[in-house]
Amino acid sequence: MRFPVRKFFSYYKPYLPLFLSVLACAFIVSALTLVFPLLVRYITKDVLEGDLSTALSEVYWIGGLMLVLVAIQNIGNYFVDYKGHEIGARMERDLRSELFAHMQKLSFSFYDKEKTGQLMSRLTNDLLQLSELYHHGPEDYLKYLIRFIGAFIILFFINAPLTIAVFCFLPFLGVFSLYFNKILNRALRRNKERIADVNAQVEDSLSGIRVVKSFTNELIEIEKFNRENNRFLDSRKNTYKAEAYFFNGVETFIQLITITVIIFGSTSIVNQILDLADLITFLLYVSFMIEPIQKLTHMSTQFQEGITGFQRFMEIMNLKPAIDNKSNAMTMPKVLGEITFQQVSFRYEDHLDDVFVNLSLTIQPGEYVALVGPSGAGKTTLCSLIPRFYDVTDGDVLLDGINVRDIDLQSLRKTIGIVQQDVYLFAGTVMENIRYGNPAASDEEIIVAAKHANADDFIMSLPNGYDSEIGQRGVKLSGGQKQRLSIARVFLKNPPVLILDEATSALDYESENIVKESLEMLAEGRTTIVIAHRLSTIRNAERIFVLTEDGIVEQGSHNELLARDGAYAHLYSKQFELQI
Ligand code: ADP
Ligand code: MG
Repeated sequence: MRFPVRKFFSYYKPYLPLFLSVLACAFIVSALTLVFPLLVRYITKDVLEGDLSTALSEVYWIGGLMLVLVAIQNIGNYFVDYKGHEIGARMERDLRSELFAHMQKLSFSFYDKEKTGQLMSRLTNDLLQLSELYHHGPEDYLKYLIRFIGAFIILFFINAPLTIAVFCFLPFLGVFSLYFNKILNRALRRNKERIADVNAQVEDSLSGIRVVKSFTNELIEIEKFNRENNRFLDSRKNTYKAEAYFFNGVETFIQLITITVIIFGSTSIVNQILDLADLITFLLYVSFMIEPIQKLTHMSTQFQEGITGFQRFMEIMNLKPAIDNKSNAMTMPKVLGEITFQQVSFRYEDHLDDVFVNLSLTIQPGEYVALVGPSGAGKTTLCSLIPRFYDVTDGDVLLDGINVRDIDLQSLRKTIGIVQQDVYLFAGTVMENIRYGNPAASDEEIIVAAKHANADDFIMSLPNGYDSEIGQRGVKLSGGQKQRLSIARVFLKNPPVLILDEATSALDYESENIVKESLEMLAEGRTTIVIAHRLSTIRNAERIFVLTEDGIVEQGSHNELLARDGAYAHLYSKQFELQI
């Protein structure tokens, strides 16, 4: 990937005035530091070698001037450190917000592939060094550039040959740094990938902690974690090795430069080309030239860390949501709820087999239909095409005669309510979780929805009623209770189209009956598709579609299908036998 320079710099935009004042301040501070060695030179050369009777008062004056300079420098540095870091942190915050918002837009097919822990790593860890780079980067480069050029010019005037001798080391140093930068960049990138793997492992193990414990597989999880943890260590070891080579290589150059100055300088003094005061000044300024080189290692690590973080940020930002609005997408006014599949074929990304081919069916507005068939036949998949969780590979899905691809996504998804077997509740209170169905709903409306969902009774028996915390993913509730909350949510959403995907399958007999009752109420006046493997639950459907791997093989009412003595009758009798 080519580095997106423009995009990288665009994040400065909101903070440009403040950022420029920080830079200006850094500029002044650096320029002032160049004055010090000159003052030292003035004292050692002009004052102490001149008229000693006035020397002391002059030294005091210069001392006073130095104090003023120090004060200005420190105030300036305070501003640069504080505000500079703040800008960096703000920019990091902006990137993080943008990334999270972008992740919210990405489609199911993306999340089918990615591990949550790894995405978390991109959001948090990867962006950490960016604030340092955004702020220190330009400021440090400016600071050291000024000191370097300033020192070079001043040194050149003091003693040109010696300055050029020092300068000759620099191209070698440049080549050396460039070479190691590449190695370091690769190593730092691998670090980020490895810590992302660690995070993914943690996320997986901790989300499944109940399964881990019930199988008493803690040791297996620890082992899996340690494998990733050790891989991270290995990658860090490689980074440190590269860094150690690099740091010490640079240090060697610096020592060579210092030795050169001392030998050359002393020779020049012996040959009376240079005096002692100049050599002292020279040594002071050489440190100004060396410092940027020394810092180069630190800066390049910082630079590489920031850059790789930004690249990993852009990898996600560059992904277009697989499913997005057309430019002229329409908002649905009033939806009646007619659903049509026209010659629909579908295959999951990267899969070889089609889930179904050329499937056609129409569901009338307000109709109550059931979808039955063996597990894995594609019932859930079929339903997920209506709200465009996935797009058809071929053919069209229509809502009230309008292709779902032409409908604004929000507007489309607002018309469809889904109750599934797995309920996802968010950490928070009962009230907050029901309100998820319609964030604008009042407390009264929420209580009405809960009553419709047969949930009010059990909610009132919780310690804090509607304000009770339900724990992460609703761990403090039973399966039936969670399902009733999810139904209350859909009551509140009040969509014209309803999909009930094995909504009662995971429940015990008693909760199933309570939930079934509220589902029947929920289905009233809406186009409803029920998926159920217990055929007893769908007997009263107006039409039943039988979906097998050959597509829809039968449709009709329960009695019609039984009379046909085909696939449905076969499924039914098998279940009937099981129940006996
Ligand atoms: P059903 O709901 O009838 O049990 P599904 O619609 O869940 O069946 O699955 C149909 C087929 O598609 C199965 O073979 C399943 O393995 C596959 N499948 C389901 N979801 C995905 C997915 N997100 N990515 C890839 N394949 C999937
Ligand atoms: Mg399913």
